[in-house]
Amino acid sequence: MKIVILTGAGISAESGISTFRDTDGLWNNHNVQDVATLEGYHRNPDIVRGFYSDLRTKVSNASPNAAHYAVAKLQKSGHDVTLVTQNIDDLHEEAGSPSVLHMHGSLDKVRCDLCNEKHLYLETLNRACPFCGGQTFRPDVVWFGEQPYHLTEIDSDIRKCNMFISIGTSGNVYPAAGFAKLAVKKMGYTIEFNTSLSENSRYFKERILGKAGETFPVWVDKFIETTKCSN
Ligand code: NAD
Repeated sequence: MKIVILTGAGISAESGISTFRDTDGLWNNHNVQDVATLEGYHRNPDIVRGFYSDLRTKVSNASPNAAHYAVAKLQKSGHDVTLVTQNIDDLHEEAGSPSVLHMHGSLDKVRCDLCNEKHLYLETLNRACPFCGGQTFRPDVVWFGEQPYHLTEIDSDIRKCNMFISIGTSGNVYPAAGFAKLAVKKMGYTIEFNTSLSENSRYFKERILGKAGETFPVWVDKFIETTKCSN
């Protein structure tokens, strides 16, 4: 079966990474406009770099939870699974997911301020850009008003999928918020896993309420058993 999974900040909540909307427009005590927009970065690049550096430390101390492992299990079950995440952490990779489309970028990478070339964060510490000699780097994270990555591939896979699964996303951030509507229009079966009903709940044929780390692994085991897919 062709399946597309979309994950959001909620899947990493049980790993101790706070979500976006938990705190009324504040993200880890910062105003979202200050740390997730290009304008905020131009106003004060040091605050933004410091914010993502702290987040990188937090993420490197976190471990995947049962929901991340269940996603990887489904990907390896024989079904054709595209995993799309809005998250910038690497907990899916750590849980063993064989492929992950990071539509909002990743904390592991930075972009040169001068030439925009991407580099692994660890390779840029105390070094200049090997392409242009630029001295400063911005996080390779897609901020509000910027174009998300992999959209053509994601759109094409959603149009072909038989099942669209959303885990821990509020349905507030576009274009990801439009994926469930597209899937349901294209006759895919849609399922939402969330602790509460999201903005997008009307586009889901099935809604499973509860913590993803508790509900999703149970669902995956049952799904693999009933569809009899083997490794
Ligand atoms: P969001 O914060 O807007 O929404 C989180 C959703 O997860 C909510 O609907 C909430 O009800 C649900 N949720 C919370 N705990 C849950 C749990 N244990 N199980 C299931 N659901 C749970 O997140 P979003 O929709 O992903 O959009 C926020 C943006 O912020 C994304 O673009 C992302 O890049 C960024 N972000 C990323 C991280 C991360 O990388 N871990 C963390 C915070 C924000």
